[in-house]
Amino acid sequence: PVRTRFAPSPTGFLHLGSLRTALYNYLLARSTGGQFLLRLEDTDQNRLVEGAEKNIYDTLKWLNVQIDEGPINKGPYSPYRQSERSEIYKGYSDELLNKGLAYRCFCSKERLDGLRDSARLLKPPTTVSYDRHCLDHITSEESNKRAANGENFTIRFKSPDQYPEFSDLLHGTINLQPQVNPIDRRYEDPVLLKSDGLPTYHFANVIDDHLMKITHVIRGEEWVASTPKHIALYNAFGWNKPNFVHIPLLTTVQGKKLSKRSGDIDIMSLKKKGYLAEALVNFSVLFGWNPKRELGEKTSEIHTLDELTKTWSLSGLTKGNAKVDWKKLDYFNKHYLTEKLKNFESDFFKQCVIDSHKNISKKLNLIDLSIENVEKVLKMIYPSLTTINEFNTETYHYFFIKPSYNKSELISRLKTNEEVLKFISHELVAHGNDLTHSVFDNTIKNILSSAPDLKKRVIFQTVRYALSGPQSGINLPVILELLGPEEVKLRIKAFDD
Ligand code: GLU
Repeated sequence: PVRTRFAPSPTGFLHLGSLRTALYNYLLARSTGGQFLLRLEDTDQNRLVEGAEKNIYDTLKWLNVQIDEGPINKGPYSPYRQSERSEIYKGYSDELLNKGLAYRCFCSKERLDGLRDSARLLKPPTTVSYDRHCLDHITSEESNKRAANGENFTIRFKSPDQYPEFSDLLHGTINLQPQVNPIDRRYEDPVLLKSDGLPTYHFANVIDDHLMKITHVIRGEEWVASTPKHIALYNAFGWNKPNFVHIPLLTTVQGKKLSKRSGDIDIMSLKKKGYLAEALVNFSVLFGWNPKRELGEKTSEIHTLDELTKTWSLSGLTKGNAKVDWKKLDYFNKHYLTEKLKNFESDFFKQCVIDSHKNISKKLNLIDLSIENVEKVLKMIYPSLTTINEFNTETYHYFFIKPSYNKSELISRLKTNEEVLKFISHELVAHGNDLTHSVFDNTIKNILSSAPDLKKRVIFQTVRYALSGPQSGINLPVILELLGPEEVKLRIKAFDD
């Protein structure tokens, strides 16, 4: 069976790129009847971020990405937190030591720093600096003795003379020779176990993928460069390799690397901004996956997680860079939000009313705002919303509170004068004790016939301003209906003051 894993390091909150990686692994497992694992790669103790592990669980749960095996729900290959697997890694590093495929390195930090500095001065500069001092100059007896005496050491992998090529399901054969040191044509011997006894990413990652019987590794392109190292380790142990799929890096619309600076924020912050799980899934699944490739040109862009667990497949993956166009997220959110709000009987709609009532009352300091009023407004205006949070912004406040506006600004904008405003206001108020839409329309007709100089546009804009202030967007008849005749009259009368 297909077994995939999402292997985040809890060094930060879950962002868009990781979400996409998690989704592809999840969808491959689900669509093939396989299993999806969550493995925490938390061996770099210095980089751990408080709350990051919980954020990963919370985010996946909120998105409804279900984990078959992981640190919380466990499974046959527990523990799924690498920091709890030190004994396992130690066993495998001993195996490589015994086979002569790894060696202890006792070099001091000062020595290693010195080697690194001189490698950086080479032309061209290189990151390959270790000179295999401890492999070439320390016998295994001496090495054992020094270790037994409690000396500090790391375990280094003895790099093969030639790095193996590997095949990637998306890119085909990749022959990537890691950098060599130009002086002695030597590869770097990567550290497998650090002096604190904890493994490096490369070592733990390979061992766990093997032990956890992972069949497909879908991960970002930034890991391509590490893959030859991983393959060399599989070879050293004589293990079968998983299938590798390296997916394109996320970029901005301009093609720059997506970063915090270019507006990338963690998923839970997007949730707080009012984005829905459905929208985020739909948004991110399209970064490097194109359903048209398998489902035909006419496919819509709307994809739910449920549908994807059946239709998603590796053959829809694309090599091109994945551009993150945030406007698209708004588009998807509007789609899912209106779909959900359409059903006034749903728990979702009811919850939105309750939350919005609370938020709006608080924001506008309205103690007597009725929940029915909020419900009535939401039922009419929901098709205009992109996020539910928007309902709690100035754009919609005039439904609950008299808008504040600047009369002189209005006069200059409409190229009219105070007299005209007063006239319109007076006529409307006098002619309509009951300013429903039809009374309103008739009154406007009357005004136009009694004052032929007045422009229709000016009348409408004046009325709109009286009712909603500078906010526009919602149809006048809808505003009239929602405010009700009494409130409409009060607001229009204000122009006569
Ligand atoms: N722990 C790595 C990360 O944070 C996992 C990379 C991989 O999937 O191998 O992305």
